[in-house]
Amino acid sequence: MSEPRLRAKELDAADGLAAQRAEFLLDEGGGGSGGEAVYLDGNSLGALPAAVPGRVEDVVRRQWGELRIRSWTEEGWWTAPERIGDRIAPLVGAAAGQIVVGDSTSVNVFKAVVGAVRLARSADTAAGPVGSAGPVRDEIVVDATTFPTDGYIAESAARMTGCTLRPVPPSGVPDALGDRTAAVLLNHVDYRTGRLHDLPALTAAVHAAGAYVVWDLCHSAGALPVGLDEHGVDLAVGCTYKYLNGGPGSPAYLYVRAELQDRFDSPLPGWNSHAEPFGMRPEYAPAPGALRGRVGTPDILSMLALEAALDVWDGGVTIEAVRAKSLALTDFFLECVEAYVPEGRVECLTPRPHGERGSQIALRCPDAGDVMKRLIERGVVGDFRHPDVLRFGFTPLYVGFADVERAARVLADVLAEPGT
Ligand SMILES: *Cc1c(COP(=O)(O)O)cnc(C)c1O
Repeated sequence: MSEPRLRAKELDAADGLAAQRAEFLLDEGGGGSGGEAVYLDGNSLGALPAAVPGRVEDVVRRQWGELRIRSWTEEGWWTAPERIGDRIAPLVGAAAGQIVVGDSTSVNVFKAVVGAVRLARSADTAAGPVGSAGPVRDEIVVDATTFPTDGYIAESAARMTGCTLRPVPPSGVPDALGDRTAAVLLNHVDYRTGRLHDLPALTAAVHAAGAYVVWDLCHSAGALPVGLDEHGVDLAVGCTYKYLNGGPGSPAYLYVRAELQDRFDSPLPGWNSHAEPFGMRPEYAPAPGALRGRVGTPDILSMLALEAALDVWDGGVTIEAVRAKSLALTDFFLECVEAYVPEGRVECLTPRPHGERGSQIALRCPDAGDVMKRLIERGVVGDFRHPDVLRFGFTPLYVGFADVERAARVLADVLAEPGT
């Protein structure tokens, strides 16, 4: 047995999270052509937690099918957005009462960015003496390397609020800030390269400029500690179908820091966020608290599938333990790639220092699309990002070290084949 294979055995034997894999429904010898598939695409769609199918069956057949409308109150449908938000909260370092679940990440980016611009302007008005004009905050800074939807929505938010959009690479953000900056939209982890950005330092820089920051946590929530409260983050959004395993299209979430909730002015003030939703009043009056982030009727089926999926975090699984294993998995993957793949064949885009690494490894290789196709045929599932990136996501709750070794070995085999 090769050296990396022995190491994998030792690492799996010492893995305190190894038992969590049983909480998920994964292949049992049936996936791919080489037996059980190695699933390294949990950063795109998390695997199915075992508790979900039974819960969804109950929600559909009993709650909807039998109780029907009574379930809004008797089964807690109406309060699900806040209740499930409170279950996500500890995973991102937030106290209760600051997160609501609902709508897509894209929609929540819109609420948060417009909300941040409005906060910046209301702060200027509130701070200055009556009649004085504070600085005109008319710029939105956005991560120039962002996942496209965030950039598209920031551009539209800028047009709607009369702001100029300034796309800046995250390292250039501190220099781009000034007294015209209203809001800054940043990604905690870069979806392509897996680079982890410095949330505490960037948040502090935005605050020093008197602006408001929105963090997109899509690639960090459920994979590493975020510390929203600790670092004074203003607003944050994230999806739940990646490292939180909520299922395809499961609803996203919005965090609004407690001290800002009274001033948070949502650009989508639907009836679900009204102080008295069943008062059916013609005038809008926002509810107090995080539920100001709600819009319309929640998507109950996928929301309750997500609630069941969050059960995997019960029973003492900590985000710190998950982070430690995530770093061990990505370290080991790089080690195996170095051992198996001829030098120069792939280039690692993910930073080596732990403090700059998310829970994925991105490898650049010229024929990446074709290479990923062949990997998937052999039961190693990652994904391809245009134009030349192989992405491998490591979800510590169900990926083991033997999976990592096999993925690197199959990658080396595929790269050695003629035509690649
Ligand atoms: C996955 C992801 C999204 C997804 O947005 P949806 O509205 O759920 O499609 C948005 N932003 C980032 C950074 C992502 O990684």
